Amino acid sequence: MNKMLGYRCSLCSQEYGSNEVQYTCPKDGGNLDIVLDIEAIHKSLGPAGLPIVDESSLWRYLPLLPVQDPGGLDTPLRAAGWTPVFSPPRLKQELGLPNLWIKDESRNPTASFKDRASAVVVARARQIGAEVVVTASTGNAGAALAGMAAAVGQKAVIFAPRAAPPAKIAQLLIFGAQVILVDGVYDDAFDLTILASQEFGWY
Ligand SMILES: [Zn+2]
Repeated sequence: MNKMLGYRCSLCSQEYGSNEVQYTCPKDGGNLDIVLDIEAIHKSLGPAGLPIVDESSLWRYLPLLPVQDPGGLDTPLRAAGWTPVFSPPRLKQELGLPNLWIKDESRNPTASFKDRASAVVVARARQIGAEVVVTASTGNAGAALAGMAAAVGQKAVIFAPRAAPPAKIAQLLIFGAQVILVDGVYDDAFDLTILASQEFGWY
């Protein structure tokens, strides 16, 4: 099922084909939302819901994700998401919140919820044949992308501000990412990421 129709800019609503652009709107730099073929998804899924019910990860939602086949079987790329929820009785009582639920996202492979988006990004990068994935990060997002990339042998480059916590930088290096320390803040690292993507075709 080709469920992804393309992208739509969150600022100007301009639509693009799925191979036309990669990350932001060329006109105004707006973030791109994924446009799904909702009608086709409705027809194929029906009221019974999602077909992949025995998948204990975010990939149970594959029909709704912009990826045809995540690949990476038996690797952490396939293990992100589907984390447990708890309703801890003592904390509920202490806070006076009878309907308190806590979702334990530390169960994700690199211990943060950023693994969800990173798993999808890496799977998408592999699908479109991107040689390198790149991000700017001061911490968990970079670690997640580096970890998901390492799981499937995808090359990752992370731009991090020089002041990022050393433990986080170490985590990136352990996952085998190429780390570029930037003299500046996160926004400077982000700008360099965009420039590098344009210059080298990185995803
Ligand atoms: Zn736009």
